[in-house]
Amino acid sequence: MSALMLSACKKLTRTFLFHSCIKRPSALISTLLSVPSPLHNHILVTNKKTPFSFNQPSVFPLCYITDRGPMELKEVVQILEQLAPLSLAESWDNVGLLVEPCKSRPIKTILLTNDLTQAVMDEAEAANCDLIISYHPPLFRPVKRLIQKDWKQRLALRAVEAGIAIFSPHTSWDSVKGGLNDWLLEGLGSGQVSVLSQALSGAPLSYKLEFMVRSTAELSTVVEELRARAGGETLKPLTNSVDDSGILVSVTCSDSALTPSVQTLLQHTAPSQSLNILKLEQPPLLGHGQGRLGVLDQPVSVAKAIEKMKSHLGLNHLRLALGFGRTLDSSVRTVAVCAGSGASVLCGVKADLYITGEMSHHEVLDAVEKGTSVILSEHSNSERGFLAVFRERLLLRLPDSVAVVLSKSDRDPLEVV
Ligand SMILES: [Zn+2]
Repeated sequence: MSALMLSACKKLTRTFLFHSCIKRPSALISTLLSVPSPLHNHILVTNKKTPFSFNQPSVFPLCYITDRGPMELKEVVQILEQLAPLSLAESWDNVGLLVEPCKSRPIKTILLTNDLTQAVMDEAEAANCDLIISYHPPLFRPVKRLIQKDWKQRLALRAVEAGIAIFSPHTSWDSVKGGLNDWLLEGLGSGQVSVLSQALSGAPLSYKLEFMVRSTAELSTVVEELRARAGGETLKPLTNSVDDSGILVSVTCSDSALTPSVQTLLQHTAPSQSLNILKLEQPPLLGHGQGRLGVLDQPVSVAKAIEKMKSHLGLNHLRLALGFGRTLDSSVRTVAVCAGSGASVLCGVKADLYITGEMSHHEVLDAVEKGTSVILSEHSNSERGFLAVFRERLLLRLPDSVAVVLSKSDRDPLEVV
């Protein structure tokens, strides 16, 4: 995740309101409204912590394909999106299938890389790859021309000419439960984990209208009118109950359906006298989001934390800033991590230790002055190790005829000399 991109993360609210309807609908009215089973009863989870043993599978349904021949690109993309739904990516990101060749061909070889560089493209062409999964999106800003002047455009053109597709998961991997950030935290051991910047459901419904009707006949009329004016697609009757004063009806609708829905209800006496309009917040997706805070079951010293992270990331060197008043023997119990350039997610989080790829001088100073030690690995070194974990997960869902290889030339551009 880049510093520029992460600035958007700050905009995410960390407090949530939830609607917890519900009164049980009577069978009669359920039938009348064709109400689907109630899908809400969202629970506030800001402080909810779950044990982390990482390698947690995604909560999303997965399909398993093991006994068939080469796959089509769209089938592989479908599996990739099941492993980490693109809806989990940050809104500013550019994820998913970025290059799709004109001629479709079976996917036999997939190359995994953190960054798509010229060296990696050479490798992909030499290995006759059909698909490159590049964690960072090689195409990010809008493109108005495809020419040889820009190195990223050159790479995109080379991919098209070679018939190689490119897919980028980026922040969907960061966010997904059991994904990149969970893997990063796993380097220090087991404990309790919480998400620093909670992912929210992209549910399109945003208002709930509650009102009373006097009879099932009036209910039928009102609902029919609502559907006619507000559109059946954007309006969902959710639940209702019957008592002596009439039938309580709840309807959820989108922004655009709000005005026509209210206008419709105001034309009926009972609904207009009882109408309540509630703004619904988007519910959080448990375990998904940017950054993680871990409370270790077994605290470690700063020195031990460095040793463990070197081993976990496969690195000989890390950069360390000791928090004010801390030594290498100081205890680390709480750890905040964010893969890539994590300052905007980590900023202000109370923890003994921050682990990320890169932070600016002043961001490090801010953390140190608050007594938080900082471990930096260089940007992509905090991300690359997850490729091997993902490879195993992907292989489980692909037929034996598809090879998934890790790039040998992909590496962080910075090295200690
Ligand atoms: Zn990154």
